[in-house]
Amino acid sequence: MRRELRKKNRMTLFLINLGLILVVCAAFYVMGKNETVTVNSIAVNVRNGPGVSYDITSQVSRGQTLTIVEERNDWYKVKYSDDKTGWVASWLVSNSKTSANTNITATVNTEGSKLRKANSTESDILAELAKGTTVSISKEENGWSKVTVNDQTGWINTTLLDISDSTEDETTSQKLYASQDETNIREEANIDSTVVEKVSYGASLTILKTDGEWYQVQTEAGQTGYVANWVVSFAKPDSEKQTATSIAEATIILDPGHGGEDVGAETQNGTYEKEVTLATAKAVKKELEKTGANVLMTRSGDQTVSLKKRTDLSASNQADVFISLHYDSTEGTNVASGTTTYYYYNRDKSLAKLINTELEDDLPIPNRGYEYNDLYVTRENTQPALLLELGYLNSDNDAKYAVSSSYQQKVAKAITAGLKKYFNQ
Ligand SMILES: [Zn+2]
Repeated sequence: MRRELRKKNRMTLFLINLGLILVVCAAFYVMGKNETVTVNSIAVNVRNGPGVSYDITSQVSRGQTLTIVEERNDWYKVKYSDDKTGWVASWLVSNSKTSANTNITATVNTEGSKLRKANSTESDILAELAKGTTVSISKEENGWSKVTVNDQTGWINTTLLDISDSTEDETTSQKLYASQDETNIREEANIDSTVVEKVSYGASLTILKTDGEWYQVQTEAGQTGYVANWVVSFAKPDSEKQTATSIAEATIILDPGHGGEDVGAETQNGTYEKEVTLATAKAVKKELEKTGANVLMTRSGDQTVSLKKRTDLSASNQADVFISLHYDSTEGTNVASGTTTYYYYNRDKSLAKLINTELEDDLPIPNRGYEYNDLYVTRENTQPALLLELGYLNSDNDAKYAVSSSYQQKVAKAITAGLKKYFNQ
C-alpha cells in the first residue's frame, strides 16, 4: 500500500515535470513562429493603439518587413526598426504566409454554420452561413479557419468546411503583382542569383510554381525567372501610389437600407428602395476602396437583415464610421424632393455636416440639410453613425436620378470626399 502510494507520487511528479517541459516547449514554439508582414502602401501610419482614433507615432514604408506581436480587430501590433512597436491596419500590409493561401476556397458543409468574430465557440456570431456557401480561407489556427464571405471576415470551425483540393491548379495560373519599383526577377531562387529582368511597381507576374519563399514566374514580357515572395503581392496595387491617410486605415460599414421581404419605398415604375440602396452602396464601396479603406456591408445581396444585426456588425468590427443608405417617400399626394442627412448623437454632428456639404455640392437634387432624428441604426450604434435619405422615390424628378448609376456615382464621390475630410480633421 505504502509502496503503491510512493509509486503514485513519483508518477505524479513525473507528470508535473512532463507538463512543465511541454509548457516550455509550447512557449518556444509560439515564440518561434512569429509571423512577418510586408508593407503594401507607399507609407503606412504606425499608431499607439488598434484604430484610427489613436495617435500616429511613426510611419513605415512600402517593402518594409514587420513582425506581428499581437492581432486585434484587424489591426496588427508590430515590431519594426530598433524593436519599436506600434499598430498598423492589417489591410495595408500583406502577410507572405497568408497570401500564399489566399486562393484556397472552401464550401460550408453544414446548414447554419456560424461565422464568428474570433476563433472560439464563445465568440460573437457575425452570421449564419447556408450549406454550400463558398468562402475563401486566409488563415488557419487551432482547428479554425479565418474566412471571407460576402465582404465579411470571421472565423469558422474548419470541420464545417469542405476545402477544395484544386488549389494546386489554381495556383499555377495565379497572378502576382510586383510591390516594389525595380523588382528583380532572377535566374534561380536565391538573392545571389543573376537578375534576368527588372519589373516595375504593379507589374503582373504569372506563377508557374512555388519554390520555398520564391515563385517561379513569367513576366509580361514573357521572361521566366524567380521572384522572392516578400517583394510581390496577391492584391493588385493601386495605380495611384498611396500616401498615409487616415481614411486608408479606417473600417467603414455601409448599410444598404431594407432588403429581402422588406422592400422599402417604391418608385412610380415599381422599383423598390431596397434595390436602389444596394446599388448605391456598391458604388460607394468601390469609391471608398480606392482610398485603401476597409469597407464592409451589412448585406451584399437581397437578404432580410434585422436592424440589430446591422448595428451589431458595426460594434463587432469597431467601425470608424457606419453609414446607412436610404431613399425617402411621402404619404399621399404630397411630393417632396431632396436629400437629408440624419444623426442621433451630438458626437456625429460634425460628420453629418461634412458629408451633407459634399452632397449639397455634388448632387443635382435639393439639399434639405442635416438634422437630429431618432432612428434605430444611429441610436443603437456604438460607433459614429449616419443615415442618409438620398432622394424621394415617389417624386418623379428624384426617382429618375436615384435609379441612375451616374447619380449613385455622384453620391459615392460625395460620401468619399466627406469621409476623407472627416478622417483628416
Ligand atoms: Zn428606407
